[in-house]
Amino acid sequence: MKTEKYRVAPGKKVKLSDFDPDDELDGDKSAWKAHFAASSERLVELQELLYAEGKHKLLVVLQAIDAGGKDSTIRKVFGPMNPQGVKVATFKAPTEEELGHDYLWRVHARAPGRGNIAVFNRSHYEDVLIVRVKNLVPKAVWSKRYDHINDFERLLTDEGTTIVKIFLHISKKEQKERLQDRLDRPDKHWKFRKDDLAERARWDEYEDAFEAMLSKTSTDHAPWYVVPGNHKWARDAIIGRILVETLEGLDMQYPPAEEGLEGLEIPD
Ligand code: AMP
Ligand code: MG
Repeated sequence: MKTEKYRVAPGKKVKLSDFDPDDELDGDKSAWKAHFAASSERLVELQELLYAEGKHKLLVVLQAIDAGGKDSTIRKVFGPMNPQGVKVATFKAPTEEELGHDYLWRVHARAPGRGNIAVFNRSHYEDVLIVRVKNLVPKAVWSKRYDHINDFERLLTDEGTTIVKIFLHISKKEQKERLQDRLDRPDKHWKFRKDDLAERARWDEYEDAFEAMLSKTSTDHAPWYVVPGNHKWARDAIIGRILVETLEGLDMQYPPAEEGLEGLEIPD
């Protein structure tokens, strides 16, 4: 599987209609599942190595429209890893205290430390998505944020963080089915807000905001990947592969043993 085709080249003007949320599914469902199983096993090893070496930091940003699959991606892709080295940060509407600071304040505090993976379930990108679509601040304010975000991510990478950003791309029809499922199943009601319908009605405005985000903030140091999200098995396999390639690119090593371990035996 080639992951480059999902990666947004820096400066490229993105039209989401050029990306197929179904993908062409080269191979059947079981082939994708086998692919994911292999990546998943490798990811567990790589995360152990990242933690043991204690040198690198990995930040994975997940963004999507409502019901785009962020929660299930976290469960499937990061669930098998050792929770000791993985922290999930979920960003909801800011609290009073958070609103009293600049919008990156709460985000910076959740960035990963050495040896750790941080997964952002939503992120600072909400400040150019919902904030833009719902005019929560004037355009003169949000339009400056693309540059701030690129600079902020540059700061993180200069200081040793590797950043991967994943946009889960689903179709409007797929969102309808997933939202309907949340209405039809009592065990899913907790995920549904009547407000989700008002958000769905702004689908086109969200597309514009996602396209601007992808066009302005995919950089060499912090690339965006547009991952087809309609089929969960393909989605998981593609994300698994992207993460394996990213972590293998770090060329990590287990730390050297302490001097003088040769021949040591544990006494009874
Ligand atoms: P959920 O992920 O369904 O629990 O919803 C969280 C809600 O918080 C979403 O509607 C987000 O768009 C919203 N949210 C997250 N970050 C921000 C932000 N910076 N400003 C306003 N709303 C936000
Ligand atoms: Mg929601």
